[in-house]
Amino acid sequence: MSHPESIASRLEQVRRRLPHGVTLVAVSKFHPVERLHEAYSAGQRVFGESRAQEMAAKAPMMPNDVVWHFIGHLQKNKVRQVVPHAHMIQSVDSVELLHLIGKEAARAGKHIDVLLQVHVAQEAGKSGFYPDELTSLAAHGGFDDVANVRIRGLMAMATFTDDTQQIDREFATVQRLFEELKAGAMANNPDFDQLSMGMSDDWQIAVGHGATLVRIGTAIFGNRENA
Ligand SMILES: *Cc1c(COP(=O)(O)O)cnc(C)c1O
Repeated sequence: MSHPESIASRLEQVRRRLPHGVTLVAVSKFHPVERLHEAYSAGQRVFGESRAQEMAAKAPMMPNDVVWHFIGHLQKNKVRQVVPHAHMIQSVDSVELLHLIGKEAARAGKHIDVLLQVHVAQEAGKSGFYPDELTSLAAHGGFDDVANVRIRGLMAMATFTDDTQQIDREFATVQRLFEELKAGAMANNPDFDQLSMGMSDDWQIAVGHGATLVRIGTAIFGNRENA
């Protein structure tokens, strides 16, 4: 038996409750690579990082079959640092960034999966497209034909609050938007099938609203220092 507070044991607790078909992204930001190796040894392969430099530093120190998701705000001058390592960039918040990712992916000789980030939280600090903006851009072909990029779906963060009804409403809004896009403007894109919502404190609510990817850090790795 592993220690109840070990990474292996915490991972197991999350996995046991995660419905079949939902992918767990282990958010390892701010944690040293030894902790990531522990998770890897416990079978975890998908890891999420939120800073370009940190991902670029950790990726070469981990086995080749790790699948890296970039989940943080991505500055344009950091795209080149992230693209070679990332399998998916979850935090695309402008059309300009999308095209830049495509350009860098072409340069790196790869295709890359991305999610469009939706701004539904009350906090002004969180980035992403507003739902109306996203609907309108999609309707006008704003996301069509970006070479070397596969638009796989949407990502969102709920407001940081104890009010679970508010979180529930926000995830419901994103789910509705996802379904509308899937049936409408993105209907000719069969790859548009992923919905990334939910963190340590709200992933069960997110799964109830159709999340296919959950991004869980603290519940696996414990508290982050200097976060
Ligand atoms: C840090 C982070 C997470 C994980 O948060 P926890 O509360 O530690 O599970 C998920 N998503 C994003 C975008 C993050 O930045």
